[in-house]
Amino acid sequence: MSNDVIKPHKTASRIQVLASHLLTSNSNSNSNSNSCLSMASEKEAALAAASAPADSPTIFDKIINKEIPANIVFEDEQVLAFRDINPQAPTHIIIIPKVKDGLTGLSQAEERHYEILGRLLHTAKLVAKQEGLDDGFRIVINDGPKGCQSVYHIHVHLLGGRQMNWPAG
Ligand code: AMP
Repeated sequence: MSNDVIKPHKTASRIQVLASHLLTSNSNSNSNSNSCLSMASEKEAALAAASAPADSPTIFDKIINKEIPANIVFEDEQVLAFRDINPQAPTHIIIIPKVKDGLTGLSQAEERHYEILGRLLHTAKLVAKQEGLDDGFRIVINDGPKGCQSVYHIHVHLLGGRQMNWPAG
């Protein structure tokens, strides 16, 4: 577990985060994030991310390899959980497998991924407890351009610390 801290960029937009990823790594794929911009821009950012090669390294590989800092809240041999750089709730944590194994997104899941998929959700539960989200939380897995996925390394969003609304946007 690491205490490397990266301050959330509260004003960062999906486009800004996408741009920073493209600038810091041309091997990064499909990054970007957030939602300060219009829905149209959010979709454009997701579409831009989806146009990158399907299984190229992403910004999350740099976090796994400790090449860039992240505020890591949980780590074991198989999964890593860190605070989202552009939080959409008081608690917003990203949970990822350390080995992608073709899981660019949930839509690529196969039987061999059963164990890691379960582990990601179980880790979300552990981290929710660790974060004191005793009154509830939300789990999100964005998939593909229409799901506004921006980083093509499967990840679970753990959101909490505020009242969620339904339906989701
Ligand atoms: P998604 O849009 O579902 O693909 O989610 C990707 C998430 O990764 C977004 O919420 C981003 O804010 C987040 N993200 C991107 N780069 C970083 C980073 N360097 N550190 C932490 N979170 C990041």
